[in-house]
Amino acid sequence: MQAVVYDTPGDESVLTIETMDAPNITPSAVRISVRATAVNRADLMQRQGNYPPPPGASKILGLECVGDIVETGRIVRKWKVGDRVMALCNGGGYAEEVVVDEGSVMAVPDGMSDAEAAAFMETYLTAFLNIFVIGAPPPTGTVLIHGGGSGVGTAAITLCKLAGLTTIVTAGSSEKCRQCSQHGATHVINYKTQKFAEVVRERTHGVGANVVLDCIGGSYLADNVHSLSVDGTLVVIGLLGGAKADSLDMGLMLRKRAKIAFSTLRNRTDRFKADLIRHLQDMFGEELSKGQLKPVVDVIMPLADVADAHRRMAASEHFGKIVLAVQQ
Ligand code: NAP
Repeated sequence: MQAVVYDTPGDESVLTIETMDAPNITPSAVRISVRATAVNRADLMQRQGNYPPPPGASKILGLECVGDIVETGRIVRKWKVGDRVMALCNGGGYAEEVVVDEGSVMAVPDGMSDAEAAAFMETYLTAFLNIFVIGAPPPTGTVLIHGGGSGVGTAAITLCKLAGLTTIVTAGSSEKCRQCSQHGATHVINYKTQKFAEVVRERTHGVGANVVLDCIGGSYLADNVHSLSVDGTLVVIGLLGGAKADSLDMGLMLRKRAKIAFSTLRNRTDRFKADLIRHLQDMFGEELSKGQLKPVVDVIMPLADVADAHRRMAASEHFGKIVLAVQQ
């Protein structure tokens, strides 16, 4: 099969396409012939040598894909050859074939394009896990979402809107703020010109956000804690603003009975991922089948342009998901 590889970590220029052996199947896994995959910020970090794959995972980049099942493992009963599926990959999505556990796969809903399905799993499951399972806002609560124009951010806006929650989202330009509003965000904040903690206080009449979904980390810690409501939860899923902070006001945390959670999806067990997918389907299955849970596709690029796709994400020029077409 053809796959994107690199010899040594580095900038986008290290990425090349080479021919290699397809991965071996295991008894509870399926083999997918990949039509498209999508770029995630984690891919850029892995390429730079800052995010090694978990033990046993494919070293090939790519956390999600869409395609057809071409082989099933010995004990697989749920899927058959020919099923059109989208998959949460533990790596290996930037390739013509990938092997994933049967529980990490979902049927592509009718009406969802390949590009949308390629971009669904990593972002929607991340947003769902961290807002609804870990954050667990009350009905009609408020969620502060950083990086509103990101893949995860746009999925988070959609899920919160469907759940009847108020969203306050941050983005780095007036154009991205406009796109976030158009996508369904209740309030938008240009973090380059506004102080988000002040705007959250104003918009919530001093109450604060029940959940903060944060991909920035260190540099936002103090303002995130100020933005939380009583009994609120800050869920940190990324550290784009640094891994260290000495600004935690524990007195404020105590008065608010606030919680901080740190969460990753990739290194969870196959069982956890299968349960999470079922949980998402239980809560949003109807909306999914009605076509209301669709990723925002920023652009579709051929796999051969993977380096440009990474450059586009590194420059944060995208809104939503950058999709890579792997094969027709
Ligand atoms: P993405 O589309 O690349 O979006 C990240 C966005 O964050 C950027 O487009 C940028 O938009 C904004 N941003 C704000 N401050 C930034 C900074 N200092 N450096 C870079 N970008 C900054 O990313 P994604 O793939 O959706 O992922 C979003 C975040 O969630 C990433 O941090 C990723 O690592 C994390 N994530 C975590 C998990 C998990 O399980 N823990 C799973 C998936 C993703 P502006 O133009 O608005 O600045």
